[in-house]
Amino acid sequence: MGPYKRGRRFGNVEPPNRLAVRPVTIVQHPLFGPDPVVTICTSCGKEVTTETSRHTSACSYITCILSIFVCFPCFWVPLVCPWFLDTIHTCPNCKDTMGMYSRFN
Ligand SMILES: [Zn+2]
Repeated sequence: MGPYKRGRRFGNVEPPNRLAVRPVTIVQHPLFGPDPVVTICTSCGKEVTTETSRHTSACSYITCILSIFVCFPCFWVPLVCPWFLDTIHTCPNCKDTMGMYSRFN
């Protein structure tokens, strides 16, 4: 009488759960990026495309100071290059500030 193996696996292999349908999410307050976005203004309640404007931030100046040590001829780039600037989104209808985008957050 030999040992009886009990650790037998059952054929419990399920096919991978592939969902072709992507979940649809309605974004009320989209994450503001560097470009204008279509959103509903929280102040006037209208669907608007935000107006964007660039502003220097504290991080722009910090990057500028770092650039002086890293690459002196390019120290001014963080103050001019849009990549380093904060983007302020305002409503074109009521001029309310809707959000801000900063790459350094
Ligand atoms: Zn508005």
